[in-house]
Amino acid sequence: FLPHLVASLEQVDETYIMVKPDGVQRGLVGEIISRFEKKGFKLTGLKLFQCPQDLAEEHYKDLKGKSFFPKLIEYIVSGPVVCMAWEGVGVVAAARKLIGATNPLQAEPGTIRGDLAVQTGRNVVHGSDSPENGKREIALWFKEGELCQWTPAQAPWLRE
Ligand code: UDP
Ligand code: MG
Repeated sequence: FLPHLVASLEQVDETYIMVKPDGVQRGLVGEIISRFEKKGFKLTGLKLFQCPQDLAEEHYKDLKGKSFFPKLIEYIVSGPVVCMAWEGVGVVAAARKLIGATNPLQAEPGTIRGDLAVQTGRNVVHGSDSPENGKREIALWFKEGELCQWTPAQAPWLRE
């Protein structure tokens, strides 16, 4: 078995990251994008977008029965969001770590929520919770032609 093939067999995943309306209103878009950019993941989609009600409900359909669902939808459609698709080996779990716990008061310092937010209902950023949901959410938020496949110049300096 050739060891150099191991890296190429590692699964490249995709995750949907979104700066929520509070993050946009508070001027945190650049800061949040930077965290993923500096880590070394590949940006494949990016747009500022006013989310309609039905899309917010579809995105969060698994939470439909929860008491906080109506306020969550109201929050997500309350202003523009920044939609992003990121790609890389292990990107889904790594992005969740960079984002931190759902409740920002429990999120570790150094994470986005730990550094930049104080309340669960205003936790500035979304990240997919599984590779399957990463694919589902990117397909939901982006149209064909809005995603770019490209090779970053830094690629050989990130992975041996
Ligand atoms: N949320 C809320 N109250 C709660 C739990 C969740 O307002 O008690 C909101 C919060 O904005 C959270 C989103 O619903 O980010 C989705 O919840 P989930 O459990 O999927 O958390 P996440 O995956 O965003 O950490
Ligand atoms: Mg979630």
